[in-house]
Amino acid sequence: MKKIIVIGGGVIGCAVARELSRYEAEIILLEGGVDVAEGASKANSAIVHAGFDAKPGTMKAKLNVEGVKMYPRLCAEVGAPYGQPGAMVLAFTPEERPTIEKLYEQGIQNGVEQLRIIERDEILALEPNTNPDVECALLAPTSGLTCPYELTYALADHAAVNGVNFVMNARVNGIRKDGEGFVLATEKGEMHAELVVNCAGMGSGELHNQLSSRKVRLIPRKGEYYLLDHELPLLFTRTMFQCPSKMGKGVLVSPTLHGNTILGPTAEDIDDATDVSTTREALALVNERSRMTWPGLTLRNVITTFAGIRAHEENGDFIIGAVEGCPGAYETVGVESPGLSSAPAIAEMLAGQIAGENALPLKPEWKPAPVRKKPFYAMSLEERVEAVKEDANYGALVCRCEQVTEAEIRAAIRRPVGATTIDGVKRRTRAGMGRCQGGFCSPRVLEILAEELGIDPTQVTKGGGKSNLLVSTIAQAMGKEDA
Ligand SMILES: Cc1cc2nc3c(=O)[nH]c(=O)nc-3n(C[C@H](O)[C@H](O)[C@H](O)COP(=O)(O)OP(=O)(O)OC[C@H]3O[C@@H](n4cnc5c(N)ncnc54)[C@H](O)[C@@H]3O)c2cc1C
Repeated sequence: MKKIIVIGGGVIGCAVARELSRYEAEIILLEGGVDVAEGASKANSAIVHAGFDAKPGTMKAKLNVEGVKMYPRLCAEVGAPYGQPGAMVLAFTPEERPTIEKLYEQGIQNGVEQLRIIERDEILALEPNTNPDVECALLAPTSGLTCPYELTYALADHAAVNGVNFVMNARVNGIRKDGEGFVLATEKGEMHAELVVNCAGMGSGELHNQLSSRKVRLIPRKGEYYLLDHELPLLFTRTMFQCPSKMGKGVLVSPTLHGNTILGPTAEDIDDATDVSTTREALALVNERSRMTWPGLTLRNVITTFAGIRAHEENGDFIIGAVEGCPGAYETVGVESPGLSSAPAIAEMLAGQIAGENALPLKPEWKPAPVRKKPFYAMSLEERVEAVKEDANYGALVCRCEQVTEAEIRAAIRRPVGATTIDGVKRRTRAGMGRCQGGFCSPRVLEILAEELGIDPTQVTKGGGKSNLLVSTIAQAMGKEDA
């Protein structure tokens, strides 16, 4: 069996690993972070773009339009959230109308269906909270929504039940060709593989440059957001874009699949690809731009702010396929937006290429994705009663804001690629995602993690590294017990 190492556990690496797990091969996924979905895949707008924004003829356009069509089936297969509320791109002045017309034409060329240009009255009838000064809009009914980290976890679980070995905290610091295969210098020691697939997001450029003489340059492009509480009823049912600029799709106002409203992102090129801090200036811009779409916006319902980093390749398109001049190496580089939308198509295309070029046989059996129970918050009263009868831990509510039970937290830790941190539990179950942002439930989540993982509570971290919440027991701190 060929040994394949996939580098990076974002939505792309996990989707590629899942597709490769259909074939006979020994597959290892190395993730530099403490969990999968630690990069751009945990902090983005969550839009499954219809596909009118990408320039016709580009990889972005092709894979976006193919990907969006694959979403409903993929999400049903792996148990990830998906919805198709549609989207609008708003023009506020007659000068912006040609941009809407250009997006429409581009969409038609890319093969996007059901696109229409609509005028003020129809916009206000469909989305009554829109700024009445709006001029016209592009209506895209095929635009969808997912939850990017829940999708990534579901893809990872499906890959894991089909034999992919996930290794966290295993950053690849160097890679070189060695005869027929590769030697990887990782945080877990040296590793060898016959085939490598570089899906390292912001880290993919550096690895590419170690393997290829045709160098690439990735520019970290930061986007900042506000997230509003779902206590506020949704005032927009569709994703509301504004006209794009050369930096991207602009600031949107959008529902999430969990009933929150998201505002953002900004687009700023920065030097430090790890800087996910939010800033007063960028958030002020998000507020100002969002009010253009939604004049009634107040920030009273903001429950958190966050930032994500786009891996922008200076030539602007995805680089996907075999690494030029380096047989056995494959890559996904510069996968900025619409990377989430394109993920299913990228994975199918790349895994197919790898299998074809390396004669990997299909497995006789590809196991289905593990089935997870409906979340407690979505259950009817009758379903809740049944769930508690089956497992008394469904009767212990840990996160009051998001109605998450102890049973679900334990199940999230026990998943094939399970949570090992408080953030990992939060993103898999929503415990800590609500109004109090984990203020009430974190101590209990920490206790459950320590029990399930068989570690001391002081070893539990918020999000890996040195983010431990506890330093010692009170007795230890007072010198009454050995630390
Ligand atoms: C602000 C913002 C908004 C966006 N909005 C949308 C949207 O609405 N719709 C859409 O389609 N797309 C959107 N995108 C793009 C989308 O998020 C990305 O295309 C997608 O998440 C990229 O996934 P990835 O797996 O390539 O990268 P990542 O999710 O960044 O994953 C890469 C992984 O590799 C790991 N890694 C890095 N270097 C190494 C190394 N040397 N060794 C081991 N592991 C390593 C990282 O820790 C990380 O987990 C947005 C992006 C941003 C930032």
